[in-house]
Amino acid sequence: MEQPEDIFNNAFQQSVELANNIANKEGQADLWDIADGVLAGAIQYWLYSRQPCGDPRCDDCQSINTAELRMAELRRLIDEFSIESEYYHSPNDINVGRA
Ligand SMILES: [Zn+2]
Repeated sequence: MEQPEDIFNNAFQQSVELANNIANKEGQADLWDIADGVLAGAIQYWLYSRQPCGDPRCDDCQSINTAELRMAELRRLIDEFSIESEYYHSPNDINVGRA
């Protein structure tokens, strides 16, 4: 059985490869359209995975047992993964100082 960190890394890597494969196959496709589709699919799967079990006193589901709580958790993860990304900052950002 794979470790949780291995499963996370595998899912991360494969979703990037999926987007790259679509871009290679659809040579004329806009990368933004591919990225938006991959993101929509990722959000769909994430929300599916965070459906509460139905027990109002379940400890595991306390942080995700309303739509608002799920969205707060999703936004927290978006912030975390974005800041960790090598693409978070771009040398072409308009607020980058140029000497
Ligand atoms: Zn639960």
